[in-house]
Amino acid sequence: MTRRIVVGGVTACDVLVVGAGPGGGNAALQCARRGLHTILIEDHPEIGTPVHCGECISEIACDNLGLDLPDHVISKRVHGIRVIFPDGTQKRLTEQGYVLEKHLFERWIANEAAEAGARGHLSHKLSLMERVENARFNGWMCDGKGEQFPIQAKVVIDASGVAAVCSKAVEPSEGIPLNTTGEVVAGMQYEMLGVPTDGYLDFYIWPKFAERGYLWMIPKCNGRANVGLVTEDRPRAKKALDEFIESTHFRELEQTRPPWKEKGNPAFGGTIPISGPFENTHFDGLMLVGDAAGFTSPLFEGGSHLALKSAVYAAQTAAAAIAEGDLSADRLAAYPRLWKDEFPPYGKILKGKNALFDLTDEEMSLMGRCLPDEMSDMGASGKAMVVLRILLRRPGLYLKRIVPAMLAFGYSRAKHYGW
Ligand SMILES: Cc1cc2nc3c(=O)[nH]c(=O)nc-3n(C[C@H](O)[C@H](O)[C@H](O)COP(=O)(O)OP(=O)(O)OC[C@H]3O[C@@H](n4cnc5c(N)ncnc54)[C@H](O)[C@@H]3O)c2cc1C
Repeated sequence: MTRRIVVGGVTACDVLVVGAGPGGGNAALQCARRGLHTILIEDHPEIGTPVHCGECISEIACDNLGLDLPDHVISKRVHGIRVIFPDGTQKRLTEQGYVLEKHLFERWIANEAAEAGARGHLSHKLSLMERVENARFNGWMCDGKGEQFPIQAKVVIDASGVAAVCSKAVEPSEGIPLNTTGEVVAGMQYEMLGVPTDGYLDFYIWPKFAERGYLWMIPKCNGRANVGLVTEDRPRAKKALDEFIESTHFRELEQTRPPWKEKGNPAFGGTIPISGPFENTHFDGLMLVGDAAGFTSPLFEGGSHLALKSAVYAAQTAAAAIAEGDLSADRLAAYPRLWKDEFPPYGKILKGKNALFDLTDEEMSLMGRCLPDEMSDMGASGKAMVVLRILLRRPGLYLKRIVPAMLAFGYSRAKHYGW
């Protein structure tokens, strides 16, 4: 742990990271490893709870990020995703991965950050940011609830999730060009016990329960599983999940509170941004990572891989900018260049998702039946065969953009940051 630096009653640091989810924890870790004086704040009294995640992360993500997961954060190893179409047709996207105890994972990353020298402060909620300027931009004076405030930082990394708090904490007079009003969908789940599994994540594309979304069974250790959904019909999310459970084999199983939840309704979840990456993810001395920047995979809404990776890019950019003494938006423009070069084309995948959800249940099932049992590596000729098979049965589907609809699955693979 580094010692606290206080100048004239103000806590000072190189980088203030706002929010200790996967994005914030990794941003703090990466900044501290680069020798930056880093502070990580989290508005909750503990890291990782309430959990708002299905908790899966791919092996590709862990390799890509150099994450050597300790045993205690892994609940179960899994083989990949099984997509279940409306008529029950099942097709696999096999890619190895993990279901985490996500709160323990987030605590582990934050601890790694602390060991690398970052200082963490719980129950610290940022609400205001003002520019610090002499002849030129010198950083942000940040205020909020928590004894360490005010905190002066050369660079702020906004990892506050869907709240995207920094974009709102800056005085409107600063004319900050960051959009703050993205659309979100609701995600909700139960922990269930005695859930049968062969080690795949079951993703049900069943629009009658999950409008423009899907339902899942994500297996965990000892027969536990997250059974949930994401839907654009936010007010009906819980009712729709209950109806799904009632109409499937899940109705026989016991619902329980997850270990981190001592009381209250067993359902847990949150919201997920679905408008895609913000047009602007940086400003003078400010970068947005993870959900705060709108980084989620369009079809299955996975966001941890993208949050963790964008954090690496933000830390890398912060270190270079601070070393050069140039904190301007122009210097930090390196950050969007990095993520745009790496992350998959959101617009293209979104088109596929929209095309998929424009299909009727019957058309989706027909497409499902034409796909190979293993979808993870179809190749160009394999895809052409599937399209041919579909169009021979239903030529009109070409006009319903069956090709982009089919490609949306491929783009949801781990190698495209799907999970
Ligand atoms: C139901 C559901 C299931 C999901 N399942 C998966 C999945 O299986 N796999 C996957 O990859 N993704 C999944 N996601 C998405 C994933 O959870 C997010 O994309 C990911 O957590 C984003 O990480 P983040 O660090 O950007 O934000 P978050 O994890 O949201 O972390 C943000 C943190 O900032 C804190 N914060 C907010 N405001 C302030 C403030 N003013 N001051 C200080 N701290 C603040 C919050 O308390 C929070 O701890 C799911 C989401 C939902 C809702």
